[in-house]
Amino acid sequence: MRLLIENAHIAPVAGPEIERGWILVDGDRITALGPMDRAPDAAGATRIDATGCLATPGLVNTHHHLYQWASQGLAQNATLFEWLVALYQVWAAMDAEVAGGAAMAGLGYLALSGCTTSSDHHYVFPKGRGDLLAAEIEAARALGIRFHPARGSMDRGQSAGGLPPDVVVEELDEILAATADAVDAYHDPSPSSMLRIAVAPCSPFSVSGELMTEAARLARDKGVRLHTHLAETLDEEEHCLAQLGMRPVDYMDKLGWLGPDVWVAHAVHLSDADIAKLAATGTGAAHCPSSNGRLGAGIARVSEMLRRGANVGLGVDGSASSELTGLAGEMRQALLFQRARYGPAALTARQALEIATLGGARNLGRQDDLGTLEPGKLADLALWRVDGPFTAAVTDPVCALVFGPQPPLARLLVGGRTLVEDGELRTVPHDAAGRAGADAHRRLLRAARERGFAASRELPDTRM
Ligand SMILES: [Zn+2]
Repeated sequence: MRLLIENAHIAPVAGPEIERGWILVDGDRITALGPMDRAPDAAGATRIDATGCLATPGLVNTHHHLYQWASQGLAQNATLFEWLVALYQVWAAMDAEVAGGAAMAGLGYLALSGCTTSSDHHYVFPKGRGDLLAAEIEAARALGIRFHPARGSMDRGQSAGGLPPDVVVEELDEILAATADAVDAYHDPSPSSMLRIAVAPCSPFSVSGELMTEAARLARDKGVRLHTHLAETLDEEEHCLAQLGMRPVDYMDKLGWLGPDVWVAHAVHLSDADIAKLAATGTGAAHCPSSNGRLGAGIARVSEMLRRGANVGLGVDGSASSELTGLAGEMRQALLFQRARYGPAALTARQALEIATLGGARNLGRQDDLGTLEPGKLADLALWRVDGPFTAAVTDPVCALVFGPQPPLARLLVGGRTLVEDGELRTVPHDAAGRAGADAHRRLLRAARERGFAASRELPDTRM
């Protein structure tokens, strides 16, 4: 298959922008790009006229909990710890059908927001409820999005001083066995891989030190990446200081959990020394501004992290802590948060685009194949229509994308294959993907009530 995209404003992230250019795709890779006055003949190629469009690398989402699509709108005014305590009980009722439907809606929505690669962090595996990881992988395959699910876990329930109730935690040995099985069954390390597995114990307050240590050993034995939540809230910092005697980043350092094969979600409450440690070890961070705002967690020091050479990617986080989980909007949220706190020069539109693309690819260890538009890279790209009635008045197309409303998505390619065209999903029925999420929501809440969970309306902080 050969594609020639013509007449686009190209923002390749690496290298200079091209005001009116072309991109040639052969198979699943970009083979060349350049300005229209030196366009190739490209005989036999399918031509895509991208007049009026901005071409960017596909966006890379580096933190999510897809299953949470089924539990949106709950615990609306809660802190992270209050929100978790309320929702653990709902999630305990999840089954594979809920996970699959939620993943289809969540991944479909991400694709519609320009995302071509998404990670997922799934850490709730109730017993006897089917193969939840297989269900979300099936949804990603059907949609055709590049997928990096992380096999999450929790082993430190309330009886062991952790936050989650014992009913949603697993035993250490079964976690390690199931995680190894997931890597063996699914992980594809090839450069064009559509599916890679990471190892992801949930957080310092829900996981034992032993699980953290053993998980790191397992991941390094298998050659896969490590992911966890870190430094999300001041409650977490206090919990770590009180129970572990050190700050979250120092704790992870002690456990061997800093390194170029690790990326952490949030990294909101970092000291100067913490930032220096992340930068020196090559540990990446997934910045999730909407979720941090929704839960009142704080504002990550993104511009400072970038200045000091720490890698930052973006994440939408789970839909239960951010009911709007499109990735394009997170560029705007990231930019506005940094500027509100540190002034208008804190983050530029192009820096926001870079963390959403190349920064994300680095978090997932895919920077050699993803994150920029360059010859040799995978043909994962978005064509944003910036000549429409509500975007055409913005002078600079990259500014229109980051500062303005999400422009209509003319085309989304993953490995040269069209996932979205003219704002509609093309690999799966567009409306059915959304309905799968609504069905998952109803099924989950019904199952939670049957198990004795107080109806959502009765949660103290879900008042209308
Ligand atoms: Zn999270």
